[in-house]
Amino acid sequence: MSPALTFALFAIAAIAFAVFYLFFYRGWKRQRELQRPFPRAWRKLLKSQVPLYRRLPGQLKRELERRVQLFLSEKDFYGCDGFEVDDRVRLTIAGHACLLILARSYSDYDEVRSILVYPGAYYVKQPRQNGMVVDMEHQVRAGEASSFGQVVLSWDDCEHAVQAPGSDHNVILHEFAHQLDYLDGSADGAPPLSGEQARNWQETMSEAYEQLQQSLQHHHKSWLDPYGATEPAEFFAVLTEAFFQQPDHLHRKQPRVYESLCGFYRINPMDYQ
Ligand SMILES: [Zn+2]
Repeated sequence: MSPALTFALFAIAAIAFAVFYLFFYRGWKRQRELQRPFPRAWRKLLKSQVPLYRRLPGQLKRELERRVQLFLSEKDFYGCDGFEVDDRVRLTIAGHACLLILARSYSDYDEVRSILVYPGAYYVKQPRQNGMVVDMEHQVRAGEASSFGQVVLSWDDCEHAVQAPGSDHNVILHEFAHQLDYLDGSADGAPPLSGEQARNWQETMSEAYEQLQQSLQHHHKSWLDPYGATEPAEFFAVLTEAFFQQPDHLHRKQPRVYESLCGFYRINPMDYQ
């Protein structure tokens, strides 16, 4: 074989490999993963650790399991401060995280790479502008999400969410809602939507956000956790908690907001109460 032909064949093989890797490898790997049966022990953990899973109809249960299976095969979990990550921890986090994309595409979490779990609330040092001086302050956190694919969670707070499924707090739903908000590149409380749906979202959410801020300014009892009034990104994350945890309450107080969230999540949690 002439050197020119060898080179041409090598180049064609390299291009074919690059095309496969870029466009098909991920899908092929996922299909292969989904051919494996969902372990019975994992199903048992979803039942005990993800209250909403128990109320889903059979077909949606299978959909959640498929997403959980991919999630666990692709995302790295790290225990921090000596915390040991076992299957209970992994299934609790994956089960709740995947509720948000139950009726959406799994690829919404393509950019999520790792989940760090602390045993309880943890401290971070945060720069704070004080006039001309920037000093460091210590903040206590139950969780955080970053635009470079990392989610940090306090296990105590995750456990609390499991034990109080009707409360307005669920740190896992909250932090993964931020990840969906990052999908269009900015954490602005407006996840990727287009056309009429995007315009409705903008109008409905701006109005509701203002209403929440006003009710807090006038010291009225707010219809949502006041933390949602700190910035639009937090408003979306806190609304997501209420949407899945207290759908009746949110629907009663803010029907248009509830409808917008149904449109984005493509699911109606009131159907599964
Ligand atoms: Zn937040």
